[in-house]
Amino acid sequence: MKRLLVLGGGTAGTMVANRMRPLLPEDEWQVSVVDQYETHHYQPGYLFIPFGRFQSDEILRTRSRYLTSGVELVIGQIDRVRPDDDVVLVDGTELPYDFLVIATGVEPRPDQTPGMTEGWGKNVFDFYTLAGARALGERLATWEGGGLVVHITEMPIKCPVAPLEFAFLADSFFKERGMRDRVDITYVTPLDAAFTKPVAAGLLGDMLEVRGIRIEPDFYIERVDVDAGEIISFDERVVPFDLLVTVPLNMGATYVERSGMGNELNCVPVDKHTFLSPHWDNVFAIGDAADLPISKAGSVAHFAVDVFVDNFLEHIKGKPMTHSFDGHANCFVESGSGKAMLIDFNYDVEPLPGRYPLPGIGPLTLLGESRVNHWGKLAFRWLYWNALLPGRDLPVPTAMSMRGKKRVVPTPTSEKEMVP
Ligand SMILES: Cc1cc2nc3c(=O)[nH]c(=O)nc-3n(C[C@H](O)[C@H](O)[C@H](O)COP(=O)(O)OP(=O)(O)OC[C@H]3O[C@@H](n4cnc5c(N)ncnc54)[C@H](O)[C@@H]3O)c2cc1C
Repeated sequence: MKRLLVLGGGTAGTMVANRMRPLLPEDEWQVSVVDQYETHHYQPGYLFIPFGRFQSDEILRTRSRYLTSGVELVIGQIDRVRPDDDVVLVDGTELPYDFLVIATGVEPRPDQTPGMTEGWGKNVFDFYTLAGARALGERLATWEGGGLVVHITEMPIKCPVAPLEFAFLADSFFKERGMRDRVDITYVTPLDAAFTKPVAAGLLGDMLEVRGIRIEPDFYIERVDVDAGEIISFDERVVPFDLLVTVPLNMGATYVERSGMGNELNCVPVDKHTFLSPHWDNVFAIGDAADLPISKAGSVAHFAVDVFVDNFLEHIKGKPMTHSFDGHANCFVESGSGKAMLIDFNYDVEPLPGRYPLPGIGPLTLLGESRVNHWGKLAFRWLYWNALLPGRDLPVPTAMSMRGKKRVVPTPTSEKEMVP
């Protein structure tokens, strides 16, 4: 009996196991998933919890319910992989494998920035964990205003648009409560603009400006001074805050480091088109855990798994892998007041304006705000539980398409002319 062992039963790991199980004969292959927790979290829902929009029971499900029949679930803490022996240690037990898929994601690490944890839950909060989002919701419910700083520690982070969404939703939230004039919002980022890609960065920067949200770019945090209510950068710039909402450094699981398989952020280097490790021919990494030059996002995991499945079937037969991942990503960007934008891009093409998924028709608008996009974002939670995780086909192509997109030369004037 051969074993496909999947580490991590989150978005990517669940899809890999559910898609592979029916394709591998049960009398020849065991498919196992290891995760530390019994509960699966729909992480995009964390964004809404601080604003009282989602209850936590809407985003939590029992993990075993979402694994197809015939997939073994092992609940335990992964201690280490011994890739030269084809063995994983889980709570002291050895699990052998023939093929390994690392899908243990990344997690926020406030402990990596001096001073950050000292203010945790007092004047420093996050919304990248369920506990953090709930605590922030309680704080916002009674907050009387002051300086709100929305901050990114370092890239890459999962869902790189989530802090922008948080800033837009905060603007809307305080307006609805009639207290926007009592809140100063500053967006502090290590990037040189609101986002990484020029056309989207121009548009998102304008959206911050229109809402009266100041941007502090190129800010590499050195420490947090909780008592003074300040964040301080390596070049000694100081941004004061009354309430700091930070996205801490995102790092892969610590066992990746202990196993000697990761980069400086404990993410696993792999071929960006096939997810195969350059060091071990039976080890893949997929989803946020992989060191890929594209956003860490559930959508990327989804398109990546599409490519992985076909390649894996070729690889185990000793054939060359003929399918190539193009880095396809798409993300809704909540912009407040019941609207959202959508961005669609890949390794080579930055987010461009247009319509999606039907060229010229939509109904979703690329790089433009609309109510339909917002409904799309809300509906995605249903799709996640009922179509994406079970491995059903979604009516969107795996590879990014230029159909329906308008090319934009990224100069300040043309950006504004073309964007709807
Ligand atoms: C606030 C927020 C908003 C987001 N919004 C969006 C969005 O709108 N669109 C989008 O596409 N993406 C969004 N994302 C990102 C998306 O949730 C992730 O990219 C996606 O979940 C990645 O899937 P993954 O399987 O790689 O990792 P995860 O889903 O994080 O799964 C990793 C799994 O590994 C397990 N694990 C880790 N370490 C160990 C260990 N040592 N032992 C055992 N188990 C372990 C964890 O318990 C977890 O279940 C958002 C994320 C956040 C935080």
